[in-house]
Parts: sequence; C-alpha cells; structure tokens
Amino acid sequence: MRLWSTAREVEPGGGFVPTMGALHEGHLSLIRAAKTECGRATVSIFVNPLQFGAGEDLARYPRPIERDLERAEAAGADAIFAPTAEEMFPGDPTRIVVPGVSEQWEGERRPGHFEGVATVVAKLFGIARPERAYFGRKDLQQCAVISKMVGDLSMPVRLRIMPTVRESDGLALSSRNAYLSDEERLRAPLLHSQIEAAARAIEGGESPRSATDRAAASLVAEGFEADYVAAVRDADLLEARGDESGISVIAAARLGATRLIDNVPIR
Ligand code: AMP
Repeated sequence: MRLWSTAREVEPGGGFVPTMGALHEGHLSLIRAAKTECGRATVSIFVNPLQFGAGEDLARYPRPIERDLERAEAAGADAIFAPTAEEMFPGDPTRIVVPGVSEQWEGERRPGHFEGVATVVAKLFGIARPERAYFGRKDLQQCAVISKMVGDLSMPVRLRIMPTVRESDGLALSSRNAYLSDEERLRAPLLHSQIEAAARAIEGGESPRSATDRAAASLVAEGFEADYVAAVRDADLLEARGDESGISVIAAARLGATRLIDNVPIR
C-alpha cells in the first residue's frame, strides 16, 4: 500500500473513499466496495478543520494513524492520502456553499459545517480525480449536499452511497462512539430503536409529526437531549408527507458530551 502526503504524489482515478480516520467497519465497507467495483481504492485520511465549529471536538478527534493504515490495507486500500492541514488549506481557501439542502438539521445546529465538508470534498475530488467516490448513508444530509454539489458543478465523478454499518445492538458505527462512557454506550442504541419504530409507524400510515414527536419524547425520557427527529426526503432533506418513496427518519441527539446522528429509511 502506498502512503501519500502531498497532492502531487496522488495517482488519479479508480475508487475514492474520503474519511477523517479512526477507521471502523463502516469505513472499511466503503473501501471494500471501492476496491471491488473499481479495482483500485484510494482512501484519504484528513481531519478537516473547516468542518468543525468553535467548541466542537477538532482537538480531541481520535487520530490512530498506525492502526488506520493497517485496517485500510487489510480492507483492500491501494493507497492512503494523508495530507497535513497546511498542505490542504494554506491561507484563505476558496469555499463552496451548497444552498437549500445544507441549511436545515445539521446545517442549522452546526453553522459552516457543510461549507467545510463541500469545500474539502471538492478539493479532494480535484486531487484524486476518482471515477467513483464512496460515502456512507449514515451521514444522509452529507450525501445530499455532495450530490447537489456534484450535479450543480458537473463534477466528473459517480457517487456511490453505501448502507449504514451497525453494531449488533443497532448503534451505528461512528468514530465518536469512543467518547461514550460504558453506561452511555448501553443506552446509545435507543437512538436507532426509536427512529426505527417511528419509521415503521409512518410506513404503517401514522403522520410523520406524531411518530417523530413520540420518538423524540422517548429519547428525552431516557436521558438524551434530542436536537431533532424528523421524516425527510432523502434527496433534498425537506420534510416528508409520509406517503412518498425515498424518505427516511433522521435524528440527532446528545448523550452526555457525545452527539450522535442516525437515520433509517421509511421506504
Ligand atoms: P468520517 O470519517 O466520519 O468523515 O466518515 C467517512 C465516511 O464513512 C463518510 O462517507 C461516512 O458517511 C462513512 N461512514 C461513517 N460511519 C459509517 C457507518 N456506520 N456505516 C457506513 N458508512 C459510514
């Protein structure tokens, strides 16, 4: 496996998996898909300062680089691009704003987050020039933001959105799960079980508002601080009527100091 730290070393093409490292089975599923579908998989590991807000976890975000290299190679990665912040963003970078889809939900709670995501992904696409790029459905709004950016800017890349990988108790894998205390870890799967229950109720004909309000109230009763629970259209994150196809329940909630997000398809 090759290890590149500067843009000029990167060999373009193939499948590309952008990550912030602390690789888990969710990331590895994307690497395996890229390798299988494209024959060659490039993985970027970059904790992007532009997508963290003031008071967020940029400084304490886990960075286990040696273990990441081993895991990426075992999953089939041919090359890792692990640049420094100075390499990626010297000075005051040009930024990409994706209107509409960036504005609600995560965008509202994390001002500037999706501008940071779109900017780094656009730059990484320019460096890696992949045929296909792989993203996890776990970050559903991120997928919609990047899809709109790629469409609006006619970027020559095909996006592949892969299913969420979960622990056996339903908790979506996330690098941030490492922040949970043992006691919080036991309660954390309730986020998934509550949005799954809401999704099945909406599928069965209940109104999105009543089903998602009930899920939010149950989470609060279990000690979560719920930021939002909502039924939305996957493509643009606008609130769903409930009877469309391509809709999901999305949620974000805080458990102690850890903010968790998740989503499940309704249909
Ligand atoms: P991150 O390192 O958090 O920026 O994530 C890198 C990529 O992995 C993004 O496309 C995420 O959506 C994806 N990802 C994160 N967690 C999971 C998961 N549990 N299952 C599938 N993909 C995931």
